[in-house]
Amino acid sequence: LAKGSGKSGWRRYQSDLHTAMVQRLEMRTALHEAIEREQFVLQYQPIVELADQRVTGVEALVRWQHPSRGLLSPFFFVEAAEESGAIVGIGSWVIREALRQFARWRVGNPQTTLRYVSVNVSARQFRTVDFVDQIRRALDESGARPQWLLLEITESLVLRDAEKVLADLKALRAMGVRIAIDDFGTGYSSLSYLRQMPVDVLKLDKSFIDDILTSRQQHALVDAIVTLSHNLDLAVVAEGIEEVGQRAALDAMGCRYGQGYHFAKPLWPADIPALAVAPSARQEATV
Ligand code: C2E
Ligand code: MG
Ligand code: MG
Ligand code: MG
Repeated sequence: LAKGSGKSGWRRYQSDLHTAMVQRLEMRTALHEAIEREQFVLQYQPIVELADQRVTGVEALVRWQHPSRGLLSPFFFVEAAEESGAIVGIGSWVIREALRQFARWRVGNPQTTLRYVSVNVSARQFRTVDFVDQIRRALDESGARPQWLLLEITESLVLRDAEKVLADLKALRAMGVRIAIDDFGTGYSSLSYLRQMPVDVLKLDKSFIDDILTSRQQHALVDAIVTLSHNLDLAVVAEGIEEVGQRAALDAMGCRYGQGYHFAKPLWPADIPALAVAPSARQEATV
């Protein structure tokens, strides 16, 4: 509200507020309808071994197949879904669907290089009282092994409510489910703090990777994080690799895993099996 704008300014402010409220309510209704109408779909982005580009895992990424607006990226709805609580229903569907799909790729297919599916879990979803049970049920229903599931959480979740989160992380890990910290480097946690948490994997945020070829300091920082992570028994996945030079630099640092447009964009499920074949088998197939 601008100073001295008087009554009309106040009215405009009220009406903006009203519009925002109506929009939020509409979004909330739309998200709940979208769950009922089964409008959410998953794409999968390969996670590869940097040394030989073998696909070791896939990250499930949700999209909203909107009847009139087309395929919507999470950018348009995940935050609103968090605020309205719709993320709990969406997230639960994502976990069940990703496990169902992954079990299909794995079971009776010894040739596949796929070892796990990575699923994003929002803070609000993780904090639901029966989250661990929900995971257990989803594993039972799908026939997937707990070792096939990697849950991606954020630094801020680990930093807040430490006690309940810690207990749940321990329970999940006792089941055999692995835990990753997503977007590492964008929050405020330290590696030494993380090491005290039951965490298996660090996903280094794209913003860290972007400048490794152009900034000596950024290169040194990523190199140090990779070395320290390995000394702390954490695996590292570099996110957002777009150039061959970045792949080579990260490989030379000893970073074992990567993900990014350089290897593959998020893909429809039908395109995954053909990629998840050992490099030698892939060559033979083309001969
Ligand atoms: P994220 O978990 O960090 O996922 C990586 C995002 O980076 C994906 O965007 C992916 O498409 C994009 N990306 C991967 N490689 C590259 C690259 O080389 N260059 C660029 N520019 N981008 C790359 P997407 O699919 O739009 O997802 C955005 C975010 O939405 C995700 O970030 C995640 O935080 C959230 N999200 C996605 N699916 C889910 C879900 O099922 N549940 C929850 N709670 N959040 C989700
Ligand atoms: Mg993620
Ligand atoms: Mg990420
Ligand atoms: Mg990210």
